[in-house]
Amino acid sequence: MPSLPRLIFRAANVLDADGTRPGSTVVVEERRITVVQQGPILDVGPLDRLIDLGGRTLMPGMVSSHFHATYHELGSRPTPFGLEEPPALQAVRAANNLEKLLRCGFTGAVSAGAPFAIDAAMKLAIAEGLFPGPRLMAGSNDVSTTGHAGDKSFPWYWEVQAMGAINRCDGPAEFRRAVRQEIKQGAEIIKMFVTGGHGTVAPSEQIEMTRDELSAGIEAAHQRGALVRGHIANREAIHLALDVGIDVIDHGDGLDDTAIERMAESGTFLVPSQLFPKRFAEMMDGSGLGFGASMARDIERALDILPKANDAGVKLLCGDDYGALGLPHGHYADELEFYAKEAGIPPLDVITWATRNGAELMGRSHEMGSIRSGNLADMLVVDGDPLADISILQDEARLLAIMKGGAFVKDELAPLEIPERDRVSGAVQ
Ligand SMILES: [Zn+2]
Repeated sequence: MPSLPRLIFRAANVLDADGTRPGSTVVVEERRITVVQQGPILDVGPLDRLIDLGGRTLMPGMVSSHFHATYHELGSRPTPFGLEEPPALQAVRAANNLEKLLRCGFTGAVSAGAPFAIDAAMKLAIAEGLFPGPRLMAGSNDVSTTGHAGDKSFPWYWEVQAMGAINRCDGPAEFRRAVRQEIKQGAEIIKMFVTGGHGTVAPSEQIEMTRDELSAGIEAAHQRGALVRGHIANREAIHLALDVGIDVIDHGDGLDDTAIERMAESGTFLVPSQLFPKRFAEMMDGSGLGFGASMARDIERALDILPKANDAGVKLLCGDDYGALGLPHGHYADELEFYAKEAGIPPLDVITWATRNGAELMGRSHEMGSIRSGNLADMLVVDGDPLADISILQDEARLLAIMKGGAFVKDELAPLEIPERDRVSGAVQ
């Protein structure tokens, strides 16, 4: 008999990137999953908590792989990027948004950028237990050149001293310095604005940095074990970034067949994050200003090529610009339905983007992202089958339990619990 009480799920419909395994038993001891097997477990101890899932889904916690914890109605004010609000208020917002993300079933998050080293502080605060939050890979300021799209919000005649979300640098040497500075402040993934487009004020054809600058930044990051992600919205820049070994392509507008082949080969990640432009275009359409239609065409093109990238084995990820105008924080799983319905991606594949692929981006696929013995118990109990209807992941009432490292963030399993007295009666195996 085990010395510590265990958590035992029986009759679970286990769902992860490997598909479904109905009728499974999953055992959690302390932080980790220790057993995943078919059929019942026979040695249930008196202290063990036994939960009969009755065919309900047990799946890995999801990962948002493009997350801006500080974004708040971004784009609604003519303020320099990252200086919209006082840093302390931004930090409180970040804590609040990270907790929201976790409560929506995302036990992991990879930042796509935040100012004032707020992400690194959030990571420490979560580890200290100051608030419930996901496992976080901390992001950086936006490392890019003088006058790039993000820097344009700093008109020169304002003589703004603080740089907000921008780490401005020019030339390979300054790119190395900027990247090292970000890593020193705790960034684990460096954000670079490689092009304009996709919601920025510069055109998508505009490449914001030279090959040498990008290459130097990537080399400096990799030397210190950090990743580099690039906001990229044209074909030429996708190929340039692949040439110099970028880790993550954000948006990837302009993706073509050759790029798909190269990305499948190199294992470069792609975060399409097309829900923000979609919502923004809808908002603009309603405003009567009229440029929603051209955005809608770009989105359609981007969505058209996604099934091809997915079938070719490109490592796709979920995550989007929540907190930007038109896409408020708080409904993160709607993205999964969006890709299933609007791009025709099979639900199991979208779930794979949000679980196994996200864990791989975090460098933790050996212990996260699937329901496997030895993995951390980052898991969700879902009332229903997300493969039959992926929209149920958005329904908080259907998320009966959220666990991170074996600890419950949400626990509404009491009605499914089998009390000890019923176990010995022989009614329960
Ligand atoms: Zn973003």
